[in-house]
Amino acid sequence: MEDLIKKFSEYIEESHNIVFFGGAGVSTESGIPDFRSKDGLYNQKDIKFDKYPPEYLLSHTCLVKEPKVFFEFYRQKMDARNIQPNAAHFALAELEKLGKLKSIITQNIDGLHQKAGSNIVYEIHGTTKENYCDKCNKKYPSDYIFDSKESIPQCECGGIVRPKVTLYEEGLPEDAVSNAISAIRKADMLIVAGTSLQVYPAASYVHNFTGKHLVVINKEPINVKLDNKKDIFIQGSVGEILRNII
Ligand code: NAD
Repeated sequence: MEDLIKKFSEYIEESHNIVFFGGAGVSTESGIPDFRSKDGLYNQKDIKFDKYPPEYLLSHTCLVKEPKVFFEFYRQKMDARNIQPNAAHFALAELEKLGKLKSIITQNIDGLHQKAGSNIVYEIHGTTKENYCDKCNKKYPSDYIFDSKESIPQCECGGIVRPKVTLYEEGLPEDAVSNAISAIRKADMLIVAGTSLQVYPAASYVHNFTGKHLVVINKEPINVKLDNKKDIFIQGSVGEILRNII
């Protein structure tokens, strides 16, 4: 482990255009469960939602066909308003300040990177912080959905107010995706962390990396091709590892 950390810090020293690609595992140390770990949302027993597959609860079909169920699940599980960034978020903000890290590409929808002070963050699955009416596009703050007394948050025009989050069956935000792919193509170092790389197309974007150093940090092994001579996989907690490095 120590050797890997040493190599990781040498790679950071050598690199000038680092990009970070992360997922739900980056926020677990803040107390937000991921999806696929053993304590993740997909393995939590919740009598209310047990009859639904988790992908359905976060799908476009559920929003349209069973909005009550969608918003009940969403309010219960996706409210990150009072959650604080952890060591991983702060370390990345610091790395950006040092001029090393050029951007963060996140699959997370919790806004914690920005809360920690990072400026260039591409949210390829959208964000819970922005919300809009599905009919007239009027914008609403997240409190409007999370604190709503109505089970289905309504716009004054009669439309449904929904989060700007990419649900299953929906397309990803084009600007964020093109910025993310272009950042990965230009990077000399890519750090992939806290993601199972099982959600597509997001997971496929890392294949655009042709730079020098690839570092993967995850609690469990993931399916990513590594060049054993130069790429490194560090098994462990991303917060702890990044805190040590910075
Ligand atoms: P995932 O649940 O599929 O995988 C998370 C991975 O992170 C797992 O392999 C797990 O072993 C690892 N992990 C967990 N805690 C870790 C830690 N402290 N250090 C290192 N590794 C850790 O998540 P995913 O790949 O991001 O895909 C799930 C989708 O769910 C994403 O699209 C994401 O938008 C969404 N999601 C977001 C949040 C959030 O915004 N915080 C939370 C849950 C899910």
